[in-house]
Amino acid sequence: MKIMPNRMDRGFYKYQDEFEKKALEVLRSGWYVLGKEVSSFEEEFAAYTGAKYCAGVGNGLDALWLAFRVLGIGEGDEVIVQANTYIASVMGITINGATPVFVEPDEYYGIDADRIEEKITQRTKAILIVHLYGQATPMDKIMEICGKYNLRLVEDCAQSHGACYKGKMTGTFGDIGCFSFYPSKNLGAFGDGGAIITDDEQIVKDIRMYRNYGSEKRYYNKVVGANSRLDEIQAGLLRVRLSHMEELTKEKEQIAVRYMKQLKSPYFSLPKLLEGATHVWHQFVLYSPYRDELIDYLNKQNIGTIIHYPVPPHLSEAYEYLGFHKGDFPITEDYAKSVVSIPMYNGMTKEEQETVIQALNEFVPGEHK
Ligand SMILES: *Cc1c(COP(=O)(O)O)cnc(C)c1O
Repeated sequence: MKIMPNRMDRGFYKYQDEFEKKALEVLRSGWYVLGKEVSSFEEEFAAYTGAKYCAGVGNGLDALWLAFRVLGIGEGDEVIVQANTYIASVMGITINGATPVFVEPDEYYGIDADRIEEKITQRTKAILIVHLYGQATPMDKIMEICGKYNLRLVEDCAQSHGACYKGKMTGTFGDIGCFSFYPSKNLGAFGDGGAIITDDEQIVKDIRMYRNYGSEKRYYNKVVGANSRLDEIQAGLLRVRLSHMEELTKEKEQIAVRYMKQLKSPYFSLPKLLEGATHVWHQFVLYSPYRDELIDYLNKQNIGTIIHYPVPPHLSEAYEYLGFHKGDFPITEDYAKSVVSIPMYNGMTKEEQETVIQALNEFVPGEHK
């Protein structure tokens, strides 16, 4: 038996009839871009999150850079973000010419709120919160800092669809919540997709203008925009998936509960759970000083894993120009060396879960060379 880190086909077959029916409906409709599937999805996704408005865009990265663009954050401005994030979070900032200011994470893999204030300068314009791996970041202190320094708040919810802090959904704390519907995400399309949510009518209008070449009225362009629209077929298929979101989230949670109860080892540690936050388990991440050996060992037993992420953005070649060096963010760099995500997906069988648990519990460093 081969167990892969993710199985997107399982998510399809779970609701195959509904997906196929919707795909055919859109194909036969003759309308493929910015139509009723997109506007219905926008309404339904806004309702799901508790936000007033939603605008579909082409992908999660576009949601992020368009968010900073419509907030007017660019050259000369600084945006605070955790150092241990997916590089797209950082690109959302730098595409606009703004400068990312990195902050070390806490033991929950989210930004360490106690280290934010020391990074605030005259140029700081916003904080980007990443609800990494699917666990909501505690927002009290962050909201307080944003209020005190008059900062904008953007949330990267690409991994946190449905995760809440104190009963409020991620993406609704700040000015704009940014989502990705890349197929592997908790709410996944069958190709690229993304969206922003907001309570601000002007922001949603501006995003809708930017996503469509900067035009509100056809062939009259107010700003230099982008072509970043959610396709009708993706929106239709996302509506199907969204209608099952509660069940899908619960299923992942059940897998996580089993992992948390049954995984026991002195050689790795389990994810830590935050009080007041929910975790939607986009990834189930282990921390191990023996990480690379553990990956090899699992590989030999046909169990696949992924590292999220092996190179922190400040050490990435793309960001050499920011001038950071090894050692600048020791906690982040330690995570990059020590974390590993184990198989976790909708449709994972009990047998697959048990195989993963047993293999992990039998791991002893140095014994499997
Ligand atoms: C996936 C992801 C993105 C980017 O989304 P795309 O749709 O792939 O562009 C941004 N931030 C985080 C944290 C992600 O996981």
